[in-house]
Amino acid sequence: MNIIADLQLHSKYSRAVSKDMVIPILSQWGEKKGIDLLATGDWTHPLWLKELEANLEEAGEGIYKLKGSEKKTRFLLSGEISSIYTQGGQGRRVHTLFFAPSLAVVAKINQELTKRGANLMSDGRPIVGLSCQDLCEVVWGVDERVLVIPAHAFTPWFALYGSKSGFDSIDECFGEYADKIYAIETGLSSDPAMNWQIADLDRRAIVSFSDAHSPRKLGREATVFEFEGKESEDYGFDDVAWAIKERYLGENSGRMKILYTIEFHPEEGKYHYTGHRKCNVVQSPQETREKGTTCHVCGRSLTVGVMHRVEELAKDRPEIEPKKKEGKTGVVGYWHPEDETRPPYVMLVPLHEILAEALGVGESSQKVGGVYELLVGKFGGEFEVLLKAETSQIGKVAGSRVAEAVDRVRRGEIEVKPGYDGVFGEVSIWASDALASEVKPAEQPDLFS
Ligand SMILES: [Zn+2]
Ligand SMILES: [Zn+2]
Repeated sequence: MNIIADLQLHSKYSRAVSKDMVIPILSQWGEKKGIDLLATGDWTHPLWLKELEANLEEAGEGIYKLKGSEKKTRFLLSGEISSIYTQGGQGRRVHTLFFAPSLAVVAKINQELTKRGANLMSDGRPIVGLSCQDLCEVVWGVDERVLVIPAHAFTPWFALYGSKSGFDSIDECFGEYADKIYAIETGLSSDPAMNWQIADLDRRAIVSFSDAHSPRKLGREATVFEFEGKESEDYGFDDVAWAIKERYLGENSGRMKILYTIEFHPEEGKYHYTGHRKCNVVQSPQETREKGTTCHVCGRSLTVGVMHRVEELAKDRPEIEPKKKEGKTGVVGYWHPEDETRPPYVMLVPLHEILAEALGVGESSQKVGGVYELLVGKFGGEFEVLLKAETSQIGKVAGSRVAEAVDRVRRGEIEVKPGYDGVFGEVSIWASDALASEVKPAEQPDLFS
């Protein structure tokens, strides 16, 4: 069986997060999206931890579900910590994900963090003055099984490799603990092919998660595992952790593997290009090489985007052009051109965004909400709609224009205006195709049946 996992999100106790980010609603939306395994987020927060204890029951070793519920979405205990400290005379700000095998381990880690002066009540994603190495010492002092993954690793302001905040290598950041950093999370602004360029990551797994702050954003990126068992009751925390560790350890013995990742188009991420939001300045890596990183309008330094940062870190390694292969339903898979041990990836656009453009209304409109519910109800979840459903069947439920939009997204026949300096990129499904946009929905015969 395949397990679609989204292992980064925040609870209502984090800044700028929807009040709907609570376990019962997450469980409901997990099912709508077709996500099998969700992170709980924010286990460092004492009030959120109380809610987790009240709402969850164990459904496998270290895997939880909504108490008394038949919903199929499971939960993994996760937290994210923002470390702000000085190392080598420079200020560092790094976000790191921590996955724990039990609520008891979580409680102990929280105790240790509090002893070291962390104010865990301050936010669901607390800021601590401890370095990444100090944090590793704390969590692995409590339990060696805790899984540590640097989050959105390339974003400029709060990341391991951030141009304004981080380091040039995992060794530099994690020191003696670098050997237990088995994976990085790509963030929305980079895709695996970009990550494959970096020598530091050759032996490490590349995982993708949504970092959702509201239920609708769940699953905009995800990691799909393949599990040899048949029932979700059969897998535990250790299986998930092992799947993530295997590449680094050079083992191939686990019951669970990373099968592929589901990616946002990296251009859609809000730090893909270099630029200055206030001054309306946007630069591609090529332009940045020519013009430098000083804003020509205000003279301050630009926010160096993920694409340029990856090129810096790749040093002289050339860009990797992934091999494309189209699946049965038209979904394009992107593969490493030489290394078959690298899991491939697909690039999707969230269904709400697709519907908004196809129906010509806002993403939060009732119309989009209504068609979304119809589709996920009929096909059994958003990922079924995006990846597996026959477009002719989608057309019958939602009209031919929606069917065509899904088909174009699957084949990658869309345009994305790159995001920069905190501004999200913009997807256009029909940008370069004026003809298609004249086709009116509903009245037209279904193009795919
Ligand atoms: Zn973060
Ligand atoms: Zn400027």
